[in-house]
Amino acid sequence: MIIKNVRILGGDPADIRVENGEITAIGPGLQGADDVVDGGGAIALPGLVDLHTHLREPGREDAETVLTGTQSAARGGYTAVHAMANTSPVADTAGVVEQVYRLGQEGGFCDVQPVGAVTVGLEGRQLAELGAMADSAARVRVFSDDGHCVDDAVLMRRALEYVKAFDGVVAQHAQEPRLTGGAQMNEGVVSGRLGLAGWPAVAEEAIIARDCLLAAHVGSRLHVCHVSTAGSVEILRWAKSKGWNVTAEVTPHHLLLTDELVEDSPNGSYNPIYKVNPPLRTRADVEALRAALADGTIDVVATDHAPHPVEDKETEWAAAAMGMVGLETALSVVQEAMVGTGLLDWAGVAERMSLKPAEIGRLNGHGNPIAVGAPANITLYDPDARIEVDPRAFASKSRNTPYEGMTLPGRVVATFLRGKPTVLEGKLV
Ligand SMILES: [Zn+2]
Repeated sequence: MIIKNVRILGGDPADIRVENGEITAIGPGLQGADDVVDGGGAIALPGLVDLHTHLREPGREDAETVLTGTQSAARGGYTAVHAMANTSPVADTAGVVEQVYRLGQEGGFCDVQPVGAVTVGLEGRQLAELGAMADSAARVRVFSDDGHCVDDAVLMRRALEYVKAFDGVVAQHAQEPRLTGGAQMNEGVVSGRLGLAGWPAVAEEAIIARDCLLAAHVGSRLHVCHVSTAGSVEILRWAKSKGWNVTAEVTPHHLLLTDELVEDSPNGSYNPIYKVNPPLRTRADVEALRAALADGTIDVVATDHAPHPVEDKETEWAAAAMGMVGLETALSVVQEAMVGTGLLDWAGVAERMSLKPAEIGRLNGHGNPIAVGAPANITLYDPDARIEVDPRAFASKSRNTPYEGMTLPGRVVATFLRGKPTVLEGKLV
């Protein structure tokens, strides 16, 4: 197959030859293939890799399944996702992670790399069988109780020590639970005006500071999930300046949206579509997160794709579930927040949405630059398109997007997983 007329990382037009799932030639005017896909001048990026996806299967197949979640990922330009462990049953044994891994392979829309739970049942009391999950067919390297914080310092220390044996990483959902009891939104001016219980920045920052110190103390790898405050950025900058092995992610929504939307938005006030954990923060936090992603203090963009059925979101604010879907809008939101503002070029986007996430997850076969000899995991993206977000068009089973009705730049034209198209002309194949 030859993919004609694409601009690799936004560069000069070129063609890409793919044989047996691998890139075998790159250059202008390639000829001699039975199968030709016209890229139409689209930007070619290495297939995106998400470090933080909730696929909901097993247990909440009404919200998402491995199949629909990976279809959603493919439409968003992803060729691999890390599936979070907070399923039912929890992915805390070799059996459950292998089940999720197999479902991903059967679906074929993108690779699914299961994340293992840190503690049994996400209960924060005893370590799960990290070694058995690492040794399983799913080859788990990322461990997280995401949705819950590993708040016990001794357990966190043990987990960090344990994963060193197989070059794993503990991905922490940083939230000191004693500081966020009953919290409904960011603690600040807006929560004060609305009379909603606030979620202070310090609840995130205190855990990040502690975990950076623990990771340094035991010489292990820490990854911080969904960083959301300017103070967290300062702590990460300090930890990195020490040379400690700490990485971090930011979600697309924390790069674009603020807590003011809770009070007043195109979708009304108190609309639970904006309820998310960690909460949307202030404009100053958004600016700090963008700067941190640009300068490398924050390493990657991760979606925290969190599907919820309508009945769990379209209810009163206090009762609504926390979370947003994100796979199918991630690249557009990053273009809006980071490329359109001049903070990142397309090479920078590829680094933060493909190369680095694969490296942090120790995921083989993904996150390689588009080059001869690399697996043909490729995303074609038209940055000049403008699309009004219509959740009914999503491949995801859930519709809980905060961007409904918004016009965002860009469109994923095609996605190739080891040379096989999963999306062509914007549609699943
Ligand atoms: Zn989380």
